[in-house]
Amino acid sequence: MLLDGAAFPAGAMATCVQLSTGAKMPLMGLGTWKSAAGQVKAAVMAAIDARYRHFDCAYVYQNESEIGEGIQQKIEEGVVKREDLFVVSKLWSTFHEKPLVKGACQKTLADLKLDYLDLYLIHWPTGLKAGEELFPKDDKGMSIPSNADFLDTWEAMEELVDCGLVKAIGVSNFNHEQIERILNKPGLKHKPANVQIECNPYLTQEKLVHYCQSKGIAVTAYSPLGSPDRPWAKPEDPSLLDDPKIKDIAAKHKKSTAQVLLRFQIQRNVIVIPKSVTPQRILENFQVFDFKLTKEEMATIFSFNRNWRVYTMSTAKTHKDYPFNAEY
Ligand code: NAP
Repeated sequence: MLLDGAAFPAGAMATCVQLSTGAKMPLMGLGTWKSAAGQVKAAVMAAIDARYRHFDCAYVYQNESEIGEGIQQKIEEGVVKREDLFVVSKLWSTFHEKPLVKGACQKTLADLKLDYLDLYLIHWPTGLKAGEELFPKDDKGMSIPSNADFLDTWEAMEELVDCGLVKAIGVSNFNHEQIERILNKPGLKHKPANVQIECNPYLTQEKLVHYCQSKGIAVTAYSPLGSPDRPWAKPEDPSLLDDPKIKDIAAKHKKSTAQVLLRFQIQRNVIVIPKSVTPQRILENFQVFDFKLTKEEMATIFSFNRNWRVYTMSTAKTHKDYPFNAEY
């Protein structure tokens, strides 16, 4: 369900999605993967000044402490209150075993300097061997799995809701069969409120988005600009920001290519979390509630799908829960 944010000017388009928990999740959030120490605090503060209220974080990004400093400073300055913010983080794969989940969440909360999260996601379905290493690998370079079943991990996530550490729980990078496994779990107490997946015009994810939304699960699109700063980018890879057809649509609306990529998602009721540490781009990316793509333009953008993934997590291809072999 789309909602108008009361904090936004009259005439503004819907700015939030209502989760199955009843909470409002802002359609626009700031991504923080690759946002370096020394930059991310300023980026978070610039985003709050630009009226962002949603922040997408993760333990594995190794920058939650600095994000917490930015949030804390803006709260102390009186610019925002904690309850105005929607802060998301993710359980890293080496913490899937049930007894590890609460401690992982508490560490994230301590770093972010918060006493609750608005949403906590299982980052990947593929649990990894517990321990100090974030990406434990065998001598062939493949991920070493944990023995945990993600349904047990889910039970520990439910306990976080029950003890008040998190308001809602969800999953990321799960395929629809894996989501269905959670929905069909005997004794399910809290269903996933949100699913975060890679999504952009080259990976439109129509079936998965439709599946989730039909089950009342909100969808968030990660890497909505195609993640041009991903460490493994190659010059021959496709580039959404340079796509001439998307540039043409942008020119018609006197908007940037990035703004069209973001508007495409929010117009299909999909939350977006573009990452930027550049103040001008942080502002620009938020200016997507004042124009509308036509039905024809939306259809044209959908036709660019080529099932191209930035994020294949190829080191986990042999994992029993590798998500990207299923059709969707
Ligand atoms: P992205 O948001 O698609 O792209 C980020 C890149 O685009 C950065 O290089 C940024 O540069 C640039 N950029 C931002 N705004 C721009 C604009 N208006 N014009 C031109 N360039 C612009 O990539 P992403 O970081 O991969 O994805 C976004 C977020 O999704 C992540 O940060 C993370 O929070 C989340 N994510 C989640 C998962 C998961 O497994 N759940 C995986 C990947 C990502 P500057 O920063 O230099 O401005």
